[in-house]
Amino acid sequence: MNKVIAANWKMNKTGSEAVDFIAQLQRIFDGKRPADREVIIFPPFTALEKTALSADDVDWVQVGAQDLYPAEKGAFTGEISAEMIRNAGGCIVLTGHSERRHIMGEDDRSVAQKTLFALQHGLKVMLCIGETLEEREQGLLRNVLERQLITAMSFDAGALSDHSFYVAYEPVWAIGTGRTATPSDIAEAHALCRGIMRSIAGERAFSIPLLYGGSVKPSNAGEILSLDNVDGVLVGGASLEADQFSRIITA
Ligand code: PEP
Repeated sequence: MNKVIAANWKMNKTGSEAVDFIAQLQRIFDGKRPADREVIIFPPFTALEKTALSADDVDWVQVGAQDLYPAEKGAFTGEISAEMIRNAGGCIVLTGHSERRHIMGEDDRSVAQKTLFALQHGLKVMLCIGETLEEREQGLLRNVLERQLITAMSFDAGALSDHSFYVAYEPVWAIGTGRTATPSDIAEAHALCRGIMRSIAGERAFSIPLLYGGSVKPSNAGEILSLDNVDGVLVGGASLEADQFSRIITA
C-alpha cells in the first residue's frame, strides 16, 4: 500500500496561497509522482476550488474538504454539502477532527452521520479519532477508540471500494502542541485501532489506510511511517510550507 501523506490546512491559506503551494510542490518534485506516496490536501472551503483546479493535472494529489453538513441542501447557514464539495473539485472529506469535536462540540453521533452521508454521496472519508490527555491518564484509551470507531463505522464496510475510507488516529494532546506521541504510544494505539476495525469490518480492516496525526514534522515522519500499522500521516502545522511538507512526503 502507498503511504498516505495528508495535509490539514485548517483555517489557513487563501486561494492564491494554495495555488502557489501546489506550484511549489510540483517544482520540488519536478512534476513527477513521489515514489510509493499518495498525497491528500484539505484546504479551507474558500480555497477548495482553486486548490483542486491547480492540482487537477497532478495525478498524485487529491483534494478534499475539512467538514461537511449531512443534508442535500437547505436552511443550514454556514454549512456546505457533499455536492458543493464535489462540484468544487473535492473528492474526500475529513470527519471528526478533534478541533471540531472539542471546539465546535461535535459528538460521535454527528460524526457518524457525516461519515455515512459523505460515503453515500460520492465522497471518500478520512475519519479522525483520538483520546484527550485526561482520557489517556484515566486508562480509557481503548474505550474511547472503540466508542469513536464503532459509532462512526455504521456503514457496510464490505461495500466500500478501495481507499474510499481512511482512519486517522490523532491523540488530542499531540495536536498542534509540539508534543508527539512516542513510537511505542503510536504502535500501541494503532494496533488497538486495527483490532477494533477488524472486529467491525473483518479482513477488510487491513485495506483501510490508518494514519497517525499529531505534531508530525520532517524530523519524526520517517520513524513514524516505518511503524507497524501506520499507513500514513495527517499533518497540520508542518503542512503549511511546501518545502517542509515535501520533506515529510519523502521521509
Ligand atoms: C491536525 O490538525 O490534524 C494535526 C495533526 O495538526 P498538527 O500536525 O499541527 O499537530
